[in-house]
Amino acid sequence: MPVKNRFAELQSEITEWRRDLHENPELLFDTHRTSALVAEKLQAFGCDEVVTGIGRTGVVGVIKGKASGSGKVIGLRADMDALPILEDTGLEYASKTPGAMHACGHDGHTAMLLGAAKYLAETRNFDGTVVVIFQPAEEGGGGGKEMCDDGMMARWGIQEVYGMHNWPGVPVGQFAIRPGAFFAATDIFEVTVEGKGGHAAKPHETIDPTVASAQIVTALQTIASRNADPVSQIVVSVTSFETSSTAFNVIPQRVKLRGTVRTLAPENRDLAETRINDICTGMAAALGCVAKVDYTRNYPVMVNSEEQTEFAADVARAVSGDCADAPLVMGGEDFAFMLEERPGAYILVGNGDTAAVHHPQYNFNDEAIPAGCSWWAEIVERRMPAA
Ligand SMILES: [Zn+2]
Ligand SMILES: [Zn+2]
Repeated sequence: MPVKNRFAELQSEITEWRRDLHENPELLFDTHRTSALVAEKLQAFGCDEVVTGIGRTGVVGVIKGKASGSGKVIGLRADMDALPILEDTGLEYASKTPGAMHACGHDGHTAMLLGAAKYLAETRNFDGTVVVIFQPAEEGGGGGKEMCDDGMMARWGIQEVYGMHNWPGVPVGQFAIRPGAFFAATDIFEVTVEGKGGHAAKPHETIDPTVASAQIVTALQTIASRNADPVSQIVVSVTSFETSSTAFNVIPQRVKLRGTVRTLAPENRDLAETRINDICTGMAAALGCVAKVDYTRNYPVMVNSEEQTEFAADVARAVSGDCADAPLVMGGEDFAFMLEERPGAYILVGNGDTAAVHHPQYNFNDEAIPAGCSWWAEIVERRMPAA
């Protein structure tokens, strides 16, 4: 079965929604226009229930099938937020908000799930209930976690959840997936190295936190190269080095380091946290400084459930003839929190040969719409078949 004919018919309408969202990007939890637009469309489609304000600006829509005897409830999730990037696409429908841009294709995800909701509300050719989930703040804000913390899974009795992300480099309309750990846990750390500032010409009268911090940055490389099992995946990156002085002739009082840790196994996450603490405090002490480490665990590892992944891949093969094995991704994904609460699967849909996500010239590929929408609809119709 290729893409559903109905989505070929709806493609231009869904494309219009997508481009309107692209023109009006909103960041993190400030998806007020987007959330209102999503809620209004879900109402117009005839959803049985539409609730706003879940996870602050998240929106939930409920669509009941022709029958409900199966008692099954499936959650389908899209993300709505944009990124703080200055758009450089030159598109007619480029962002009207300088410094905000749909550079991760969440405009496409929202539009595709709206398209699927329209179709499912029209046809209702399934036995059970669909809950469409539109989350804010995927890009670092934990909007998915907030929706879970608001009790979304229990409130609507969601039993399994599915998510989708476009993927540049995969042929448009093709899919890729993998079972088990898929996206990395994404933690952040901030280290303050306190020394004793003074005149740059009198280093002997100071305790230089710059030199100590430089040694710390170098020593942190040993977590990946010397501490972690070399066959495991781990990234430790220092991304910011900021001293308390910008002068040429001052040894600063303190240095602030910031960075990120990406891991796919719980033991590596623990290892990184412990080693960052030990290396920073120990190295600082050795050079006469004092280091304070703040380590924050953000998104957990996103783990695809075996059974739902196999099912999701079958559906992808039905829609586009094939489903590739996806690579491990050291990026993070807020959908991980939903997959911690319920079994489910997250799939990649090809965006074709485009700029990478988070690039100022990236654009979601509207040609992926029929395949993406068909995958959503088929997940529902196959998982909860009508008699
Ligand atoms: Zn992104
Ligand atoms: Zn994204």
